[in-house]
Amino acid sequence: MRRRTAPVLPVTPRSIALFRLGEACNNHCPMCSNSGRPEAWLTPQDDLLKRVDWLAAQGMKRVVVTGGEPTSHPAFWAVIQRLGERGMIWDINSNGRTFAQVGFADRAVEEGLQRAIISLHSHISEVSEEISGVTAKGHREIIAGIDALVGAGVPVMLNLVLTKLNHAHLLDYLTWTVARWGHEIELKVCFPTTVGRGGGWDGIDLRYLDVQEVVRAFVDACEAINLTWHLESFPLCAIADPRARNMGRSGFGETHYLDDISGDRLYPIAHIEAELGCFPETCRDCLAFDRCPGVSEAYARRWGAAELVPFR
Ligand code: SF4
Repeated sequence: MRRRTAPVLPVTPRSIALFRLGEACNNHCPMCSNSGRPEAWLTPQDDLLKRVDWLAAQGMKRVVVTGGEPTSHPAFWAVIQRLGERGMIWDINSNGRTFAQVGFADRAVEEGLQRAIISLHSHISEVSEEISGVTAKGHREIIAGIDALVGAGVPVMLNLVLTKLNHAHLLDYLTWTVARWGHEIELKVCFPTTVGRGGGWDGIDLRYLDVQEVVRAFVDACEAINLTWHLESFPLCAIADPRARNMGRSGFGETHYLDDISGDRLYPIAHIEAELGCFPETCRDCLAFDRCPGVSEAYARRWGAAELVPFR
């Protein structure tokens, strides 16, 4: 089964569009969820500026700038400047490394940055290096970039994709991040997707059952210290909690996705997510069905539905 959602969603003053500058990135994550299409690699500056104008003409007031790594695009500041000229504010989905450069975070705030999602997959350098495809210097830049964002007063959500390398020390990660950045930081734990170009990496060959216990313990530990936590792409039965907050792939409340090839079409994020998720027939009577993202088709084909036990 798939959840039915409207394929069109009007733009309102509260809408937020996911705006990809290109899939080019200075990290080399082996589990990269990007498409790998050559035409999506690096959108030219002129096209990006036209896209900003087009979004503004649709009434869009806010975007989440994403990549690849958006700050590594040569046109990054030109795009940000055009957003400001069109009266739009922005959030960013980033690996954080560029923010380690002196003055970068402060300039971003001056030019309209509201929030940041930064991917930090482990506090342990060797593990982070492997999952993010960076050197030890790259890992230090990620940490320094988060330091700079927090120091500049930007609300930060850390994004951790579970892999075979990091799930066992998830609770240590929580302790470490709170010790460094305090309770204002938000944490998001994602179950990996196998849809992108890195989908075949053995490190993300996980089942929900492999991580259920540690994710439950993570949620309980966050609750105990009043830390804001989020989960992404977990069917609710897989974490044994029908009331769990599960934000799907739209981490910052994005409502629309700007077509990253044509640049002149907007799709409802909820519709895209509904297309990506599926449910076995047994979910039909589950009490959590309305709130549950289901599982990816690839996961269902690989592992079947035996793990998915309806709430009654
Ligand atoms: S049984 Fe189906 S609908 Fe219910 S929580 Fe599990 S996956 Fe979601």
